[in-house]
Amino acid sequence: MSTIPTSGPYQRVSYQGHTLDALTRAAIVALDDALGFRLTVVQGSYNAGRVPQSAGTHDGGGAVDFSVAGMSPAEIAHVETIGRQIGFALYHRLPSQGPWVEHLHGILIGNAYLSPAAAAQVVDYLNGRNALAGRGPDTGSRAFVHNRFTWANRKIGADRINRARTLLTQALAELDGNHVRGWRGRAFHVRAGITTLLPELPPPAETAQASADGAG
Ligand SMILES: [Zn+2]
Repeated sequence: MSTIPTSGPYQRVSYQGHTLDALTRAAIVALDDALGFRLTVVQGSYNAGRVPQSAGTHDGGGAVDFSVAGMSPAEIAHVETIGRQIGFALYHRLPSQGPWVEHLHGILIGNAYLSPAAAAQVVDYLNGRNALAGRGPDTGSRAFVHNRFTWANRKIGADRINRARTLLTQALAELDGNHVRGWRGRAFHVRAGITTLLPELPPPAETAQASADGAG
């Protein structure tokens, strides 16, 4: 795919100084929410040729590495499991396994812009392999290998939407109050615009977490 989308799930975004697509960013946000803290990204996606140690897995979309600095082995294992629950093929990588420092390496399953190397890792993950050169057994949790993160079920800024709803409701009250007397003609149109917009704001039900049903 040669054209870079300018909107939707595959638009490029900057996150913690790294390039991702919006879909992968949304999955990371869902993972952070599930964990209750914010992971630190140390490598993003669309990184062709820049990190030869990654053997092309970060050249396309859906690839992300997280720092494990300050985490205990149990915490790292927990992040790996919850990341898999969200829909990443997520692996704890050790320095003994390759030319890298300890980190968590993730590929977002189903991302349409995966590099060939990343897509091969997803196949390994689904087959119970560790997606390393030796293709050894996966030592992580296998409980969530069918989970997928979908754009439709991303959390779309619930806090911001709720704030917007509050502000628009307040604006309506202002328009109906004394402040705009003498501006009735213009206020009528503004009021009509707001009353049209308010019901179009997504209800809380549409700000849910990633689905675990494998759809999409
Ligand atoms: Zn990686």
